[in-house]
Amino acid sequence: MVDRVTLYRSPTTVADVDELAAWLRERIDAAVTVRDRFLDVHRTDGLAERFAEARVPSPYERETGNTMLGTIRYEERALDHPEREGGVLYDGLQVQRALNAALPEDERGLETLHVTVLDRAIGTWGDHDGRWHKRVNVLGQPALVSVPGLYEAPAKPEAYYKEKQRHALLSGDAPPREVLENQVEGDFLVEDDPRTTDALKGYVLQAYHYLETGEAFCDREGCRLFNAHYHEDLIDAQLREPAFCGEHAQLYERA
Ligand SMILES: [Zn+2]
Repeated sequence: MVDRVTLYRSPTTVADVDELAAWLRERIDAAVTVRDRFLDVHRTDGLAERFAEARVPSPYERETGNTMLGTIRYEERALDHPEREGGVLYDGLQVQRALNAALPEDERGLETLHVTVLDRAIGTWGDHDGRWHKRVNVLGQPALVSVPGLYEAPAKPEAYYKEKQRHALLSGDAPPREVLENQVEGDFLVEDDPRTTDALKGYVLQAYHYLETGEAFCDREGCRLFNAHYHEDLIDAQLREPAFCGEHAQLYERA
């Protein structure tokens, strides 16, 4: 069904999208191409306003959006100068709808899957617990893959949060990354982690797998299609052998 996958670069992050494309190319029966940043290639009028509407103002409030002029201006600057943007959480589904509308009409069909690697944090609302949850990806057209989400969405080891709190009590601010890495047992990915590209591979494949099969995630831990809720599990799924469960190895493990 999907005969072409187009990946979009994320120049403000360490994610190597060309490497992601090469990895994908070896595993699927679709042509894989790479384009520059989605928000440059498919910039449309009103996109800044759509981002402003998709802002999540509070983790416990369903309602999104702040379309005051200052916020829209901020979003315009963030589109033009992504390196200055940061710290905002967006409703992933609203962003997805906005980016779908920004695609040229003849590219919206599901035979061409667009995967945009983003430097933005995205989330989805949890009806079951009444709060927003950060996401590494949002499946669909286009699929969104969030690099900050890779670091922030899965829960880190409990000791990480304890150490962070302890440091805040002592010095009033956040501990440097090296301190956390050295003091906290257990493995987790930090911002700009050198393992970023490798860890994103399964999340890009999930986007293809979903459109091709209708199956969102694999429920077998350790498979690259597994939707990990903890960093330990993410590392296990994405960075340790075997790459796939038996079923998905048959589909994607090619000699
Ligand atoms: Zn699997």
